[in-house]
Amino acid sequence: MNVQAQIEEFYDVVIIGAGPVGGYLGWKFKELGHTVLIVEEHSEIGRPFQCAGLVNPGAMERVPMKNTILTPIWGARINSPNGTTVDIGSPERIRTWSVCRKKFDEGVVRLAIESGADIILNSKPTKLDIEKDYAEISINVGGDICKVRCDLVCGCDGAHSWVRRTMKMGRPKEMMIGYQVEVTGYNGSSGQLDMFTGNDIAPGFFAWAIPSGETTRIGMWSRADLLTGKSCEMMVDNLMNSSIWKQRFENCNIVGRFGGPVPSGLLKYPLRERVALFGDASGACKPTTGGGIGTGFDQADLLAPILSECINNDDLGEAKMKSLVKILGPMRKKLNRARALRDAFLTEVTDEELESVFKVWSRPEVTQIINESGEIDNPIPLGLRLLKEVPEFRSLATKAASAVIWS
Ligand SMILES: Cc1cc2nc3c(=O)[nH]c(=O)nc-3n(C[C@H](O)[C@H](O)[C@H](O)COP(=O)(O)OP(=O)(O)OC[C@H]3O[C@@H](n4cnc5c(N)ncnc54)[C@H](O)[C@@H]3O)c2cc1C
Repeated sequence: MNVQAQIEEFYDVVIIGAGPVGGYLGWKFKELGHTVLIVEEHSEIGRPFQCAGLVNPGAMERVPMKNTILTPIWGARINSPNGTTVDIGSPERIRTWSVCRKKFDEGVVRLAIESGADIILNSKPTKLDIEKDYAEISINVGGDICKVRCDLVCGCDGAHSWVRRTMKMGRPKEMMIGYQVEVTGYNGSSGQLDMFTGNDIAPGFFAWAIPSGETTRIGMWSRADLLTGKSCEMMVDNLMNSSIWKQRFENCNIVGRFGGPVPSGLLKYPLRERVALFGDASGACKPTTGGGIGTGFDQADLLAPILSECINNDDLGEAKMKSLVKILGPMRKKLNRARALRDAFLTEVTDEELESVFKVWSRPEVTQIINESGEIDNPIPLGLRLLKEVPEFRSLATKAASAVIWS
């Protein structure tokens, strides 16, 4: 996609960042009748690529992007540290889609452009001044600085958001690190992704092998404090070459490498006078899967209509913007609860405890509960059902139960 707009002097909304969330938000604001400029620092959309490429049905339903699907994923093989495998899902029910992220991002940004948003590539903001009646952004466009005024600035500029740092809006609660290689020749199972756990594989988190058409994406994520000096690259290398699973990777040929941060834990105030943050910039990735596309779309759907009203009423002052934070309350609560469950079942347990969790999960009646209530989009019903109905988990997860109830 190669587009470059003639820039106007004033826009209702200027969006920094043409990732999936910036594109989706631009489209939503255009549908609400606003003028929109999207500013992207790279020369093309969807590069560099930093994603396992899973888009859940809830997000896929909201954009016409089925043409970007590489593999429908109906199930998972979840592997314990010592080699117990639990198979979940069945081919009749698709749980998530493995997509070509470049095509997906391009398609979403195209929705904004085709509905009339302007976009400038190779451009990034250098200064942001918030005035009473407008915000003024200085933008470096291919070496020339131009100034644009707008009612509202939206930071959709990813994990290290320039807008967030410039406006001193805080930091997401957790910053995980992900690393991934794309391979041919993986010995996997069609339509099923593999998850690998254990302190030597992905401390506190998990590693994955995700079918993506003719290739497979193999990666892991964790937190710096749990990696104890090792890099994610070393962990993936260990999984593929030295772990008990190494025979699955014997014929793999690496064709690409990617890595990046996964910010999780919504900022306390992602909205300030004439400024709003969305997606990774606001810390919206799910603590359970690292997925950030669906929650970014959710934020845009929740906030764009009310922000549109604020633009029309010229009511974007600090007090009004901070009052809108409560709209994100239920989402914040859901993400915090998911984190509490993740901590109880995965992040804060030893390999021995994890092994005993897997022993229970592998019992047919428990696997049935997982199949009935397991949702990638919303792990809370399953987590609560397991805590309630499986006696072994009651003692294991007392902490989780209270965290879930009180979070
Ligand atoms: C290894 C890994 C695997 C992942 N797997 C998944 C997955 O399977 N499913 C999922 O949903 N999520 C996944 N994620 C998370 C997902 O990639 C992000 O949540 C998602 O891309 C967020 O979209 P965004 O639009 O908020 O930010 P981004 O996709 O980061 O887009 C931000 C855009 O802003 C631009 N930008 C940044 N700074 C500036 C600036 N100063 N000026 C102008 N432009 C700027 C960037 O170039 C980019 O185009 C994964 C992340 C990692 C690291």
